[in-house]
Amino acid sequence: MLTDYHVHLRPDEAGSDAERHFTAANAERYREAASEAGIRELGVSEHVYRFRQALEVWDHPFWRQQAVDDLDEYCAFVREQTDLRLGLEADFVPGREDRMANLIDAREWDYVIGSVHFVGDRAVDHEGWDAWEGARDADEVWRRYFQTLGEAARSGLFDVLAHPDLVKVWGKGRPRPAGDLRRFYEQAMDGIAESRIAIELSTAGLRKPVGEMYPARELLEWCLEAGCPVALSSDAHVPEHLGHGYEQALELLEGLGVSEICVFERRVRRPEQLGPS
Ligand SMILES: [Zn+2]
Ligand SMILES: [Zn+2]
Repeated sequence: MLTDYHVHLRPDEAGSDAERHFTAANAERYREAASEAGIRELGVSEHVYRFRQALEVWDHPFWRQQAVDDLDEYCAFVREQTDLRLGLEADFVPGREDRMANLIDAREWDYVIGSVHFVGDRAVDHEGWDAWEGARDADEVWRRYFQTLGEAARSGLFDVLAHPDLVKVWGKGRPRPAGDLRRFYEQAMDGIAESRIAIELSTAGLRKPVGEMYPARELLEWCLEAGCPVALSSDAHVPEHLGHGYEQALELLEGLGVSEICVFERRVRRPEQLGPS
């Protein structure tokens, strides 16, 4: 079994409206590309902040710009017009756990992917809201990122922890802490170990300046030792990215002795044998 669960039916850029992308024909393009890549389990997980209902959780100016679509229309579209699993990529917003829980629990997902894109009101992966501007040093950004990641896992809101070291996305394009990075991973490990949340192995980083999968091998090893299962995804925003870099991902997982990946249905997790089918 191969999965691709962290998938967007449209690019993040402005102009990628729901009317054009939430269509049966577009879903079919994704299904066909997945089949060609040998991916049987396919789901979509649109960004929560692109829906108006997200503003009840957080009224960040970036979200206000982005929140134009209706979350229930998205759910109805996926359930009624596609054969895809219904997921959501939901940001973890510290202090807003109850509000996010209300948004999530009001709808029937197959899975909810939890992401940390922001530390405070600054983003680690968005130039317009750059977390490095005004930060004392790279250590501060990384420490806050991994602390927030641990809180996200511990919150119990999510089935999968997305791109677990996203903070490295810019590679050499942003200051990077010197030395052994495990001192940062440590900040997240208690929350991850307590929750046993599924850890996303994301090949998206291969397409980003950092040129590496998320998470780093050392962090993935710690998560495995803590008893967390793996969820495999590409974070595709176009059909061509489905299953991108999976050979490399499978090689890594095989090297770590991982033989099972997570499959989700109505938020129930089960293991399946990993590999092309
Ligand atoms: Zn993300
Ligand atoms: Zn995503």
